Amino acid sequence: MQTTQDTSRSEELMELENKYGAHNYHPLPVVLDRGEGVYVWDVEGKKYYDFLSAYSAVNQGHCHPAIIGTLKEQAEKMTLTSRAFYNSRLGVFDQYITEYFKFDKVLPMNTGAEAVETALKICRKWAQEVKGLPADDTKIIVAENNFHGRTTTIVSFSNDEDARKGFGPYTPGFVRIDYNNVEALEEALQMENVAGFLVEPIQGEAGVVTPDDEYLRKARALCSKHNVLLMTDEIQTGIGRTGALLASCGKCDCAGHCERQEATYIRPDVLILGKALSGGAYPVSAVLADDPIMNVIKPGQHGSTFGGNPLGVEVAMAALNVIRDEKLTQNARELGELFRSEMNTYIAQSKIVKLVRGRGLLNAIVINDSPDSDTAWNICMRLRDNGLLAKPTHGNIIRFAPPLVMNEAQLRDCVSIICKTLEEFEN
Ligand SMILES: *Cc1c(COP(=O)(O)O)cnc(C)c1O
Repeated sequence: MQTTQDTSRSEELMELENKYGAHNYHPLPVVLDRGEGVYVWDVEGKKYYDFLSAYSAVNQGHCHPAIIGTLKEQAEKMTLTSRAFYNSRLGVFDQYITEYFKFDKVLPMNTGAEAVETALKICRKWAQEVKGLPADDTKIIVAENNFHGRTTTIVSFSNDEDARKGFGPYTPGFVRIDYNNVEALEEALQMENVAGFLVEPIQGEAGVVTPDDEYLRKARALCSKHNVLLMTDEIQTGIGRTGALLASCGKCDCAGHCERQEATYIRPDVLILGKALSGGAYPVSAVLADDPIMNVIKPGQHGSTFGGNPLGVEVAMAALNVIRDEKLTQNARELGELFRSEMNTYIAQSKIVKLVRGRGLLNAIVINDSPDSDTAWNICMRLRDNGLLAKPTHGNIIRFAPPLVMNEAQLRDCVSIICKTLEEFEN
């Protein structure tokens, strides 16, 4: 279905971004104006399924009434106090989120990158003050093709040239190893002065690269053996997305709340959350850890003006309530299985799609073409025309991550849009 309507308003608005905004993104040409649940509308009123969910920030669906209701109510009462004073919501949130994820303490920040920075600082300080490592040689192990955000330190250990090049001098103290390679981790842990291992349970930006079932469990055991902090970046994978409350829960959906805990739950030393922590309504991120680790941070040593503000923490509690009340992890697990099974049926007779991978509703298809080709981009353009929004990552991979409030009929409708679109590219 080709768009025949007048798109001059969209053109105008894209031109404004182009002319007055820095060119630090390459958006798909669609100008969104409104969102509700799994749907978004452009300025011309055309309706789409959102299959990106703002990189998994809107797991709870666009403008969830419970989250927006809380936001409005709190916004009229108080938005910001700074941490120079106590506020009436932060302590309530601290208790709520530490019980939810079963850690002693939380340190609230705003963006994902800030939460990762916070984890790295906590790890270094813990290593120096508790483990006794030297200040000038405290190493943190990271994975190849990681994505942890955009700060100077974080891009220092990225191997994405676009993210890194031109931004040096780089922060030292990071060692990169192969992802999903237990032997590589074991070898790196032989180095002197290792403080921690920072890892994504599934590498979202790298193309939903999903490690072996046993990878995190073995990494957990190795980190414990070497007294090194396991830090899991669950900013994209956490909060129901992968059909588990945390992807590090493996097949479990409880973050330690059920009896299967011993069998399936891999508990990190430092848990990093962002994105869906606020259901996309407000930037809220957080780092969780137990006392022996978190207590290395003392007054004046770390913080943020907006971190822990009453508006953000109220929104976060509402967003976490929605995940639990609406059983979104379970829904993500069931719909994810259906999605991969339907896609595999398609792929069995496809030349253009190589494979589908992922967990829960964090999935990707790999297009059978060079990463330098524009096939994946062109497919995403046709998907847009056909009413579904997704974005290529790493050239020939398309990530599919709809809001978790989707129902089965909607998912089947989406599968049919995707398959119909892919068929246009088979030759
Ligand atoms: C998005 C993301 C970040 C960075 O979060 P921002 O809010 O964009 O700073 C870090 N790690 C992972 C895994 C992410 O997906």
